[in-house]
Amino acid sequence: MNRVFGIAFASSDVAAIAGFARSLNAPFDVLQIGGEVIQGSGAASIHLAPDTAPADAIATTAQQLASDATHLVAVSSMASKDVLARLAGLVDCGMITDVVTTLSPTSFKRPVVAGTLIATVEALELPVAITFRPAGYEAVTGQAASSVQAVSLAPSAVAVVQEAKKTGGRPDLTQARIVVSGGRPMKDAATFESVIGGLADALGGAAGATRAAVDSGIAPNELQVGQTGKIVAPDLYIAAGISGSTQHMAGIKDSKFIIAINKDPDAPIFDVADLGLVADLYVALPELKAKLGG
Ligand SMILES: Cc1cc2nc3c(=O)[nH]c(=O)nc-3n(C[C@H](O)[C@H](O)[C@H](O)COP(=O)(O)OP(=O)(O)OC[C@H]3O[C@@H](n4cnc5c(N)ncnc54)[C@H](O)[C@@H]3O)c2cc1C
Repeated sequence: MNRVFGIAFASSDVAAIAGFARSLNAPFDVLQIGGEVIQGSGAASIHLAPDTAPADAIATTAQQLASDATHLVAVSSMASKDVLARLAGLVDCGMITDVVTTLSPTSFKRPVVAGTLIATVEALELPVAITFRPAGYEAVTGQAASSVQAVSLAPSAVAVVQEAKKTGGRPDLTQARIVVSGGRPMKDAATFESVIGGLADALGGAAGATRAAVDSGIAPNELQVGQTGKIVAPDLYIAAGISGSTQHMAGIKDSKFIIAINKDPDAPIFDVADLGLVADLYVALPELKAKLGG
């Protein structure tokens, strides 16, 4: 019988893990790293760790708790791939990332070649470690309450010697419901922060950037969205001064609604945007921010 063990890096991941477990008709347990427990996912049990820890500590704890699981899963993110790769190593099993569809307990679909093709991938044995994109699965709520147990994470072999503060306390890019991203035409880091960061703050969202903006030192590396950056799946993605390269689109196509602002009416981003505005971003974005009261 299949049994899912999910690692939740945010409270909202639990409902997404429930959606994945439902695709297999399988019961599931969760190790939640920090945050409040949101009941209603139908998890058999939620092991709540008080705070986050280095990936090796989370993976070791998950291995101890998930001995009967056939599927070790988490919502796709940099952090979850780091932890699940270690967990797969500990359990000595295979791993499939960025799954979007479940075909059977061992067969899944995932995008490849920057999302231009969808591959069907077969796990040759169970257990298997899987990261999945939440846009592919319907979140489950309104189910029976789960038993909740506090758990201490295993000791880590890594010591954190310095912690960098996240810019402006904005939500994590991969979890944010609204993302405002800027591209090459941003003049410098200060302009990026005031124009893109300012609108992101007015909307309560995260700021993102293209690789062109990152490579020119305009935006920090961790804000890069795309094939070689982060995969985002917000309700609203605002792309300002972004041409719409295949590599950038690979990171944003799970967005529910895309607004593109570009002064070139022929920019490829307009082919995929739900709403397009042909305008100078230096006029449109401050105007939008002012209308939001920012
Ligand atoms: C292997 C590989 C991996 C890559 N991975 C990534 C990745 O992960 N993420 C990523 O983003 N890219 C990635 N790239 C780079 C990608 O190919 C593009 O070069 C990049 O996405 C272009 O960024 P951009 O849209 O900011 O710049 P450009 O393509 O130069 O577009 C800038 C746009 O801004 C518009 N514009 C200019 N001024 C204004 C203004 N004042 N107001 C409004 N609009 C304006 C222009 O009309 C233009 O459309 C990768 C490339 C390779 C080869």
